[in-house]
Amino acid sequence: MKIGIAGAGLLGRLAAWLLAHAGHAVQVFDPAPDPEPRFDGQGAAGFTAAGMLSPLAELESSDPELAALGWHSIERWGHIVARLAKWSPAAGKPPHFDCNGSLLLAHGPDLGAARRVLARIEAGASGWPQQPLALDAARLRELEPALQSGALHAWLLPGEAAICTIRTLKALQATAPGVQWHWGQAVRALGPGRLELAAGWQTFDHVFDLRGVGARPDLPVRGVRGETVWLHAPDVTLHRPLRLLHARHRLYLVPRPGQQIVLGASEIESEDRSPVSLRSAVELMAAAHSLIPALAEGRILRLDRNLRPALPDNRPCIHHEPGLTRINGLYRHGWLLAPALLDQALSDTGLMT
Ligand SMILES: Cc1cc2nc3c(=O)[nH]c(=O)nc-3n(C[C@H](O)[C@H](O)[C@H](O)COP(=O)(O)OP(=O)(O)OC[C@H]3O[C@@H](n4cnc5c(N)ncnc54)[C@H](O)[C@@H]3O)c2cc1C
Repeated sequence: MKIGIAGAGLLGRLAAWLLAHAGHAVQVFDPAPDPEPRFDGQGAAGFTAAGMLSPLAELESSDPELAALGWHSIERWGHIVARLAKWSPAAGKPPHFDCNGSLLLAHGPDLGAARRVLARIEAGASGWPQQPLALDAARLRELEPALQSGALHAWLLPGEAAICTIRTLKALQATAPGVQWHWGQAVRALGPGRLELAAGWQTFDHVFDLRGVGARPDLPVRGVRGETVWLHAPDVTLHRPLRLLHARHRLYLVPRPGQQIVLGASEIESEDRSPVSLRSAVELMAAAHSLIPALAEGRILRLDRNLRPALPDNRPCIHHEPGLTRINGLYRHGWLLAPALLDQALSDTGLMT
């Protein structure tokens, strides 16, 4: 079938890749000038994301139904990244996916707050094989020697994963067979089987609206600002994402290839796309330094920000009508949910079995 996709962010690229591999003729339209990340707060949120795949930790603010989608997605990302690694052009850097679990950490004075978070996670995960596992200092040192384990409380969240967002988005775009990518072309309006571009309406057998925050006013989507700090820290080796439960500041650290670590992320109810504030940068870096003093000699590669697309109930939605599918509201768990939501949507429409 002839498929038109509005948006070449996380959902748009993954949908194009899946549909093209299923034999459909796919065209994708996006206002970005080219497929590269921009780091100016304007492009796809998917590039800014830290790539934590945390069905357990996200139970603090979501529910078991979303977590179940997350477990499905982790399995799917494992297969997808393996295929991308095989097919990426020899010159490109292969995407990266780790499934070593993640750690929840708390300094001594924050133990009470940490226990409350753990209680919510354990309630949401009751009956599942994956449960938070308390670690003593020796086990923590074994898992993450870079941590000054003495004064920390720690729990392992088994089965959680992390994905290298930038490399994965690039590889999805580069290896989707026969897809026509139309850069610099914003979709002005859309409807069942049609997209309006600067040159006029184009018709398709089926259209996907995957524009994230750009889907307004068709959907009541809002942007929730998030900021990250990218460090080059060759002196600090991490084997899995870390999440610090701090009474005031939430922080996670995600290791990336090339001795890089992403610190994230602020969560601010604002659609401001301007550069990262001093306050957010100081809070993220101070919390990270409190956890791993050796990060002091890390070098700041960049500060980034973007908007998470969220619907009023902060839950994702899939909306179908003949000739048109809209998916939106992936909020703070887009990477965690995208494969599961697309599997469901493509099977509902009969475009993939
Ligand atoms: C700081 C930060 C950290 C995050 N960390 C994580 C994490 O660790 N784990 C996780 O699971 N999720 C994380 N997320 C969330 C995740 O990035 C988003 O949920 C996800 O990117 C949403 O995917 P999307 O495809 O709906 O939107 P996007 O990735 O934003 O893509 C939307 C695309 O639509 C295009 N578009 C807009 N308007 C138009 C138009 N008129 N016509 C055509 N195209 C248009 C845009 O240019 C863009 O390319 C994070 C997000 C942020 C900001």
